[in-house]
Amino acid sequence: MKLFSDLQGLIFDMDGVLWRGKKPLSGVREAFSRIRARQIPFVLATNNASQTFEEVRARMEGMGVAIEPHEVLTSAVGAASYLKQHVPVGANVYAVGGPALHRALEDAGYGVQDSSDGVAAVVVGMDWSLTWEKLAEASYALMDGAFFMGTNPDVSFPTERGLAPGNGAILAALETATGRKATIFGKPEPHLFTEAVQRIGTALSHTVAVGDRLETDILGGKRAGLPTALVLTGVTTAEQAAGSDLQPDWIFENMEQLSRELPALA
Ligand SMILES: [Mg+2]
Repeated sequence: MKLFSDLQGLIFDMDGVLWRGKKPLSGVREAFSRIRARQIPFVLATNNASQTFEEVRARMEGMGVAIEPHEVLTSAVGAASYLKQHVPVGANVYAVGGPALHRALEDAGYGVQDSSDGVAAVVVGMDWSLTWEKLAEASYALMDGAFFMGTNPDVSFPTERGLAPGNGAILAALETATGRKATIFGKPEPHLFTEAVQRIGTALSHTVAVGDRLETDILGGKRAGLPTALVLTGVTTAEQAAGSDLQPDWIFENMEQLSRELPALA
């Protein structure tokens, strides 16, 4: 796909693309009204395993954009779906994660257990009340050969007081303790994009991954075989993009510029 205007679908990252922290970014409402007018299917896809559809919908509604449940894919929901390729639905699993991960696994048909005895898989997706006991439960099952899945590899995230440990740090603790290596669902692995594209049924070659970070959004999109677009409203700067080996197919200043490049109305 050479021209951005040849696209058939869009996979959007959220933070740094639609908003930055708590602050909505400009041009989002107009961009989505143009996307809707052209009936271009899209998915808002995030590595954040704690986020829920309701939270994303509330934020988008606050910006004047209405969205449907199938238009949001979190790494928790995606990982629970991906798990079906390795672990039969109906099996018992152990989760190191919050309510959103528990719900995603149950919705996918798995039994989430309090003890890891005999579970078929351990799924790790950012646990805000992590304890040694939970790490130990997970380790026992992993040493017994349970399938090891991580929703996302992000090692840290910014808080008001500095960088705090993310899901990647929890995974590192378990990997160190057990010598096992987790299968990661989220960016920069390709699975989040593959799953998102399957939802909207567009061709990989004509579905554009839009994100603000070269090393996650753009790398993950490329690994999944998608054309990629970087927006400069988030983490990666124009200077960093210019100096990188990793080149997106398009670079846009912001969502306003992206939406001006959408296909013409039929
Ligand atoms: Mg981002």
